[in-house]
This record gives sequence, structure tokens and C-alpha cells, in this order.
Amino acid sequence: MEKKDKTKQELRKDELLLSQKDGHDLLSDSELEACEFFNAEYKSFLDRCKTEREAVRYMVARAQEKGFRQFTRGMKLSPGDRIFRVNRAKAVVFAVVGEKQLSCGAAIAAAHIDAPRIDLKTNPLFEDSGIAYFKTHYYGGVKKYQWLAMPLELRGVVALKDGTIKDISIGPGKDDPVFCITDLLPHLANDQMKKTLSEAISAENMNLLIGTRPFKDYDGADRTKLSIMDILNTKYGIIEADLASAELSLVPAHGARDVGLDRSLVGAYGHDDRVCAFEAFRSVLDVSQPERTAVSMLADKEEIGSEGVTGMQSAFFDTFMKDLCEAQGTSLRECYENSFCLSADVTAAFDPNFPEVYDKRNSPRLNYGMGICKYTGSRGKSGASDASAELVAKLRRILDTAGVIWQMAPLGKVDGGGGGTVAMFMAKRNIDTIDAGVPVLSMHSPFEVISKLDNYMSYKGILAVFKDNC
Ligand code: MN
Ligand code: MN
Repeated sequence: MEKKDKTKQELRKDELLLSQKDGHDLLSDSELEACEFFNAEYKSFLDRCKTEREAVRYMVARAQEKGFRQFTRGMKLSPGDRIFRVNRAKAVVFAVVGEKQLSCGAAIAAAHIDAPRIDLKTNPLFEDSGIAYFKTHYYGGVKKYQWLAMPLELRGVVALKDGTIKDISIGPGKDDPVFCITDLLPHLANDQMKKTLSEAISAENMNLLIGTRPFKDYDGADRTKLSIMDILNTKYGIIEADLASAELSLVPAHGARDVGLDRSLVGAYGHDDRVCAFEAFRSVLDVSQPERTAVSMLADKEEIGSEGVTGMQSAFFDTFMKDLCEAQGTSLRECYENSFCLSADVTAAFDPNFPEVYDKRNSPRLNYGMGICKYTGSRGKSGASDASAELVAKLRRILDTAGVIWQMAPLGKVDGGGGGTVAMFMAKRNIDTIDAGVPVLSMHSPFEVISKLDNYMSYKGILAVFKDNC
């Protein structure tokens, strides 16, 4: 209905009541085309980067092509400088130096590049009944049953005592084999089927099938195990003891795919949180001459509590920011107290298949844009980093001014469960922080689903924060 056709009452309603629309009703054809283009690039990123190390390598290579250089302590900085620093190959921070001094604060986007997966144990290789296996240890919040009876790739590194790093990536190549963890046939699953989902699969039985052919002309014990180690030794020059100093992960073998007849969605492994990490990375690549220094921090270990030297709780971030501040003769604490951080992480999209866990009036919907999460946590907001009303208002202003489609996005019903992000660790640094990101279906599963429109809008949202001048 045209504006002139509306009654006085209807116009008053438009003015007063919140109305949200599917983003497809708001975007022009050219914007939808740009959205498609952005997602094509995102899908190819996902296919190449199924571990945090791969994500760091990809991002650094692309950033270097765009003029980013490694920042070392003591380096002089000028507005417009594009820099990065890698944290132990598993986390990375990018920055574009702003016109204003860092004492005015930085605009920060913090996301994570680790995702739930199945790791190998440190003494993984064994043989049982002529079959060789790797023992595994799941990483992050996984529903174990989802990882059985599906093709898996093996990706990661083996570090040798002499300092050599052997990169291992078996699965993505056209002729590569894949691996799997077997599941019980339904015919013999009477007892298993009576168990709860969390008890039905034992973590200690999640052993990865890696081979069955015995070592040739040898009839001693562990013939298959020996033949597997022989293959690994021939290909990578490693011995069994080297597996102690390895980080090898099993990730789904499938690539990112369009989902739906209308291709409006992307299904893939690792949207949480490589989708927001990609948006934050692309935003820092695309911002030039910002008023405030734009910083994209892509952290590791969020899925297990942001712990460790590569997690968001590590002093790596503070050290980097302090080095930047020192280059400008300003203090870190002044920088932090004037900074603004978007904790860019995914949120749970309303799923009509499971309506009972959501408050329909307070849940983000697919295609309604970037999801703003005032607080996360569980029960009575326990463990939440609750952004202030003032901060939410500021973000509303930035997003509306930039024409970004967004929605409020709390996580599920009040007593339904809960979750957290890196927000609380940024807030602890005395940085104003708010959660924002892409709504996801089937979060933490091997095949998570997002909307292309929400992905594109979240990228535009982060970029708008970087471009904002106060
Ligand atoms: Mn996440
Ligand atoms: Mn997660």
C-alpha cells in the first residue's frame, strides 16, 4: 500500500510499532547480486579452511596481497597503514590504522576461527581384530551421534623434534581417501536405542577407521597398524612417537553447498564462527582510511572457553594493542576505555522444527539480517556480558545509518540452556562490547545452515562499525 493510501491510524501504527521484514523484501536486485557474490567467496573460503591454522594461512596470504604487512614491535605507524600479527599459527589480528590516535579508541571486531570437531588423541594408533584405528577426543560442544557414519577428512600438523612441521591434509583432494567412525546397525541396536542421546555413543568408542590391509610378508602382532605407520612414514616421514606432538583433527569431508531450491541458504561445516570471522576479515580488508583504527581479531579456542595462549583470554591481544599504542605514544588503558567491540559470533536462528526451545517473539529469524545479542549467558543471565542500553542504541544508530538489515537475537528460551562468546573477555578489558552475528540452524552440527542475506548483512554491519567516526 502506498503511503498516500494509508489512513491516519495506519500511519500512526507504522510510526509506533516495531515492524520487521524479510530482508528479501528490502534489498534491491543489485544488492542481492552483491550478496550472492560475497557468499560465493565465503563458500570457497570454507572449503579451503576447515581448521584454524588453515584460516590463518588463507587470511594472511590474502591480506598480504592487499597491502597488509606483519607488524613488529617498534615499527612506526601512519594513518592508513595495514598490518597484522599471527599468534602461533592459530589466531591472527589485522588492523588498519585510523586517522585519530588510539587514545580515541579502536573499533574492534572479535570472532573465532576454531569450530567443533573430532581431534586425535596423543597416542592414537591401535589395531583391533585386524582393523587399524585412531583414538579420538572430541573438541567443543558436539552431539556425538552426528559425527558417526559420515565421511571425514584428516587435517592438521605433526611437529617433529627437529622443528620441522609436517602439514597433513587427507580428504580434500579429488583422489584422496576419507575416513569414518562406524555406527551400530539398527538390527542390533536394541540396547543403544533405549539410551539417551548423550549416552548412546561413548566418546571412548569413537575410533576412526583408517585401514585393514596387513603389512606384507609379516605375520607378527599389529600387522595392520604397522602397515598404516609404514604409509604415514613413506608419505610424511613420521614415526608413531611423532603423533604425540601433533594436532590432527577430523572434519566433515563435504564442502559448502547452496541449500534450497531458491539457493537462499548455505549449508557447511564450520559456520560457527568462520562466518563472522570471514565477515570481520573482509571488513578490515575493505575499510580504508578509517577515523578510528579498525581491528579484526580472529581467535582460537572459543569453543572450549577461550582458554590457552591462542584463546581470547590470552594476553596476545593486549600485547598487540599495547605495541600499537606505544607506536603512537599513548596508553593501552586509554585506548581500551574508548574502544568499541563487536563480538562477532553466530546465534541460534528460530527453527520451526523445534519451536519449544525458542521464545518466538525474541528469536532471530533467517533472512532478517544481522542478529544483535544484548546478552548471552544462561538461566538468570548467568555468565552474560550484558551490553548497556547506551551501547545497543549506538549500534542501532550505526546500522540504521548504513542501511544494514538487523534484528535483535537472544538465544532461545530463558531456562532452555544458554551459551557464551568472547564478549565477556573483551568486556573484562574495559572495552564496551556487544554480541552480533549470523543466525544459524543446526549449530555445532557437521552441516550448519545460514542465510546468505544474513551473512552479507553481518559483513555490512561490521564494515559500518569500522567506518563509523565516533
Ligand atoms: Mn561461536
Ligand atoms: Mn560455538
